[in-house]
Amino acid sequence: VRNSQPSIEVLISGILSGEISALSRAITLIESNNKNHFAKANSIINTCLPYANQSVRIGITGVPGAGKSTFIEAFGKHLSSLGKKTAVLTIDPTSSISHGSILGDKTRMDELSKDPNTYIRPSASGDTLGGVARKTRETIILCEAAGFDVIIIETVGVGQNEIAVHSMVDFFLLLQIAGAGDELQGIKRGVIEIADAIVINKSDGDNIAKTEQAKAELNRALHFFPPKKSGWTPIVSSCSAKNHQGITEIQQIITDYIELTKSNTYFDKKRAEQNEFWLLETINEQLKQNFYGNTEIQNLLEKTKKAVQNNESSPFAAAQLLIETYFNSKDQSCS
Ligand code: GDP
Repeated sequence: VRNSQPSIEVLISGILSGEISALSRAITLIESNNKNHFAKANSIINTCLPYANQSVRIGITGVPGAGKSTFIEAFGKHLSSLGKKTAVLTIDPTSSISHGSILGDKTRMDELSKDPNTYIRPSASGDTLGGVARKTRETIILCEAAGFDVIIIETVGVGQNEIAVHSMVDFFLLLQIAGAGDELQGIKRGVIEIADAIVINKSDGDNIAKTEQAKAELNRALHFFPPKKSGWTPIVSSCSAKNHQGITEIQQIITDYIELTKSNTYFDKKRAEQNEFWLLETINEQLKQNFYGNTEIQNLLEKTKKAVQNNESSPFAAAQLLIETYFNSKDQSCS
């Protein structure tokens, strides 16, 4: 099987000519935790980098059941009908914890997955949020090099997921539902601050009146937030993903946003800041992984924990000693 693996050069030229099989294989290399694959993956990413950056990156979040996959299906099809190529990537670190992904099961976005202009790739499983996020970011680069115009990053609205997604997209869309008795769901979770649009889904049938009420309430609430650095005022909108209604309006909102932020240079500034953020994130993550994965440190840490518990050593002095030991140890291999 090893011999049938295409070379890096073949993969790169495949990606650059938009071959999905080459793209998928390269993403598998990125997702691999096999150390032998790191150099290959890095080389592919670096070669693809000059061809990347041309897409619009959109983050979509919402609680389970808000209609994310139904929305992405409708939105993706709409983009496809305009001749745009869309890649849908998911961030779902829960898949590693529960062994059952909230997002990644194969039946989702069934129809969209058959669309020749669309590529759907579920999240890397068995990973931490930091790990999934880094891999997704690298996957974005490859998808862009493969010619995708729009990259959608989907995540479930839990905890830190949104922040990770926010740090890799241009536009952040929060999908909500009305009438759940909690119109200001996003405000409580701190997501409204980072949302560029809040879309109330399921605005159909008996839900239409409730949706209008929720929109009004959200619009009132948004007045209390300070203006954004982007110069953009977040928009509250609604749609029925199921009936494909309101989808073109949402696409227009995103287009307006991109136009504004490109003309006021925020677009490029934000991407540059995100690159810097991911540089530091990756260093932090790898240092931590390396540190805690070091056998000498693992042994010493166990002893140190006891010493600290028994007040034989101060936590600060003990930490200092561990860190010094780590940096002096010889087996700090890069992982
Ligand atoms: P996700 O968990 O956020 O991905 O949500 P899904 O897309 O799986 O949708 C959850 C449920 O809501 C499904 O039964 C959908 O059919 C339904 N749903 C999604 N969008 C709409 C909509 O616009 N109107 C109505 N009435 N139902 C919808």
